[in-house]
Amino acid sequence: MNPHLIFLGAPGSGKGTQAFRLCENKKYAHFSTGDLLRKEINSSSELGKKVSSIIKKGKLVDDNIVLELLSIHFNELSAKAVFDGFPRNIEQAKALDETILKDSHSLAVYFDITLDLLVDRIINRVTCSSCGEIYNLKFKPLKVEGICDLCKSKKLIKREDDTKEVVEKRLEIFRQNNEPILDYYSKSNRLKKIDASQGEDEIYSALEEIFN
Ligand code: AMP
Repeated sequence: MNPHLIFLGAPGSGKGTQAFRLCENKKYAHFSTGDLLRKEINSSSELGKKVSSIIKKGKLVDDNIVLELLSIHFNELSAKAVFDGFPRNIEQAKALDETILKDSHSLAVYFDITLDLLVDRIINRVTCSSCGEIYNLKFKPLKVEGICDLCKSKKLIKREDDTKEVVEKRLEIFRQNNEPILDYYSKSNRLKKIDASQGEDEIYSALEEIFN
């Protein structure tokens, strides 16, 4: 049986792009807590209003809020999941095991990359809000400006929290929390590492190897 996958890595390490690709090709469902929170903001729900200013500042949303949001969506599901952007701290890692995954088989994949490379990557990022494909205006440009290569939508958006100042804050929070999370999965023999400084195709091949 394939395990649930927990993608770990800094903002901009490419885990979202790989999760998207993996879910297209295999029977996996993508759970990005960032996407779930942005949906709440876009629909102007009470929750969205509550978390909007926190996300704009690059800070972490309260653990219980994110955990509850994730549980609601996870319960609707029978497929295997890729968790992308969750856990962000050791408390979330434990809660994921205890309250969501319980006894089911899971594996964490760490997208390992030097953090210095990431600010430049993230501030050039645009996402297609129709199909979710992620581009980078410098490193993975659109074939035709303003139009998604995949679904031809013109709804390309730049995230509000992808500015230099906010990205630096997000990376600082990542630095503070990352080691304990890696230790946690390593101690239970569930940690795999991928060199995320490689190209998109090489990273995907490394991911497929983990499956085999
Ligand atoms: P992401 O799309 O994963 O980069 O997340 C965007 C923002 O959403 C983060 O900077 C946080 O403010 C918030 N967020 C996403 N996932 C979590 C999480 N697991 N815990 C707390 N905040 C989160």
